[in-house]
Amino acid sequence: MISVTLSVSGIDPGYAKQEQDPLMNAEIIAIGHELLMGEIVDTNTSFLAQELSKAGIPVRWSGIVGDDITDLNHAMSQAIARSDVIITTGGLGPTSDDVTREAVASALREEMTVDPCLLEWLEGVFVARGIEMPQTNIKQATLIPSAKTIPNPQGTAPGWWAKKNNTHIILLPGPPRELKRMWADTVGPELAHISGVGAVATRTLKTVGFTEGAIDEILSGLFGQENPYLGIYAHQDGIHLRIIAQAPYESEALDLIKPMESEIRHKLGDAIWGVDDETPGSRASELLSSSGVTLGVIEGISGGVLASHLTQPGIGASLFKGSLVANADGIVEVPGGHTYSVIDMTGEAAALAMANNARTLFSSDYGLCVSARGENGYHIAIASEDVQDVTEIKATYARAMTMQRSATTALVRLVSVLS
Ligand code: ATP
Ligand code: MG
Repeated sequence: MISVTLSVSGIDPGYAKQEQDPLMNAEIIAIGHELLMGEIVDTNTSFLAQELSKAGIPVRWSGIVGDDITDLNHAMSQAIARSDVIITTGGLGPTSDDVTREAVASALREEMTVDPCLLEWLEGVFVARGIEMPQTNIKQATLIPSAKTIPNPQGTAPGWWAKKNNTHIILLPGPPRELKRMWADTVGPELAHISGVGAVATRTLKTVGFTEGAIDEILSGLFGQENPYLGIYAHQDGIHLRIIAQAPYESEALDLIKPMESEIRHKLGDAIWGVDDETPGSRASELLSSSGVTLGVIEGISGGVLASHLTQPGIGASLFKGSLVANADGIVEVPGGHTYSVIDMTGEAAALAMANNARTLFSSDYGLCVSARGENGYHIAIASEDVQDVTEIKATYARAMTMQRSATTALVRLVSVLS
């Protein structure tokens, strides 16, 4: 894309857009005092950055600005001078501290007016909710001449897509659920079209048991290619491999991914426990269902986190019978008189005994135990009529992290046993 240099006073010319720059670049501005105060974490930028790269528009700048019209004006003018695509998140609400629209109107020197179609739609949203529309909400129905509306099917704040002098300024609301939906429905596909990327397809393969270095060596021939591109990322639930391919059509992009996925599966085999959006909890619960077996759990160091993975919304874990969580002293008291001390029960044999206890207590086919922490780490044991599986996990990190990691590690282990 050929972009023009806008002259904005006070901006270092070194940061200005290049006349002949063939690549579009993007800038993200997250807006809100809560973000600046550290009260909420800016997950929108991370989402948008990943999506923009898939849409073929690399992010060159990103920043956080408070709900302050002067600061926003400055950030907006600076962004207009140096970026082809500017995406803001937040500040589209009805209250007086939501000033993103005003800042963009002022930076573009345009006037905001109420759009009759938008107003009709907004009034309809309130009628459907059975409440009267406060007057303050009217500003959510405003537009400027260079902007069109981005529909928001999940909220009252429509987005704006302003285009002026080859610069795209895209305003999205703060709530991540609304932003993601608007991205998927409108912004993402349109930007991919504008950047000429066509379709982008991705496939994530999630592995366990290998270190990043080991995978790097095993798959060395596959890294460094451009299309499909292979990325490697360390996560709490193991190493993730992400294949990204671009082509004019999605089916062609998917065809580019297939041979690389086959080769990775051939080389890593059982180390791959899941794909794409699958989590250790969703995968374990799927495998329980497909094998028709039930699970009972006793948790030491994981402190109930494992159970929370199996009870997330959207996970149909009807075959998860329950979890017994040890208290901070490592004691589990069972109605009926049994008291188990998980603290005393560190070590391989003890963990296995607890997994078998879990089976008995919950009358389940499988029992799983995450033991208390011993000197070097903890044990994960899985027991059934045919399986007596114990794994020692070395863990030297802090208790809070061990709680999280032991839960995902135990679920990934369960996935391997059930696969
Ligand atoms: P609303 O109409 O809900 O006021 P808005 O566009 O004005 O929408 P904000 O008021 O800035 O958005 O944020 C609403 C909520 O969205 C915040 O309280 C926060 O929970 C979430 N949120 C805002 N910005 C971000 C962000 N960058 N990352 C993650 N969550 C965010
Ligand atoms: Mg708001």
